Amino acid sequence: MLNGSDGGKGMKIRILGCSGAVAKGYNTTSILVNDNVLVDAGSAASELDFTQLRMIGNIFLTHAHIDHIKELPFILDAICSQSSAGLDIWGSAITIEALREHFFNGLLWPTLEQLGLDSGKCRFNVMTEEIMEIDGLKVKSIDALHSPGAYSYIISQSDKHVIFSGDTSCNKALFDEALSLSDGLKLFFVEASFPDSMNDIAGLSGHMTPEIIHSEMKHFKDTRFIAYHIKPRFFEEVLKDIPEGMEYIKGGEVFEV
Ligand SMILES: [Zn+2]
Ligand SMILES: [Zn+2]
Repeated sequence: MLNGSDGGKGMKIRILGCSGAVAKGYNTTSILVNDNVLVDAGSAASELDFTQLRMIGNIFLTHAHIDHIKELPFILDAICSQSSAGLDIWGSAITIEALREHFFNGLLWPTLEQLGLDSGKCRFNVMTEEIMEIDGLKVKSIDALHSPGAYSYIISQSDKHVIFSGDTSCNKALFDEALSLSDGLKLFFVEASFPDSMNDIAGLSGHMTPEIIHSEMKHFKDTRFIAYHIKPRFFEEVLKDIPEGMEYIKGGEVFEV
């Protein structure tokens, strides 16, 4: 599955899962950057072996919806009892609070204290700085238009940038920021949960369609636009709406920039 070497200067992006729901052949969002940074925790535990999981040092969560966090307990189980360096989990204040209050709360799953993870092995952190530097990467959060506290992320390595929109409806601030990156913006993973025929529902639920993306994409010259977070039940319909010049992913792809 993997190609290229870890020693190069390029950024490697491996799509572990990227769908808007779980169905046979589709799993939810988890994207591995350079083997040690994970964006969202929807499918990493079921796609990576223990050795690969234990290379992850930082997880950036776009938001707390279940499709983006559902494998977090199993990632912690694999990493935190073994790794001496431990694991840092990052998100907005609302996302981190939601995990503590509504997921790791002793009901849906044991608390971190009950899991014995209060010893610095597993750290839930609020992103207090807009741009963080981690392992040679810069990670910038931008408020998304979705659930409270949802983020989009721009991840940069030297002069190359990749954007993960996360779940969001059309966000002028995100597209303006993307345009400012000019030809340094190599990959723009942008969510297309619904087909064009459901533009209204997409907008109401904080999502997008290929048509909405296409209207913004025209302003970019050298950036690859890659639709993701497609709902499995609408997959074929969304594919028909993907215009020329736009790509899509289903999970399992590897990109190097
Ligand atoms: Zn989602
Ligand atoms: Zn969501």
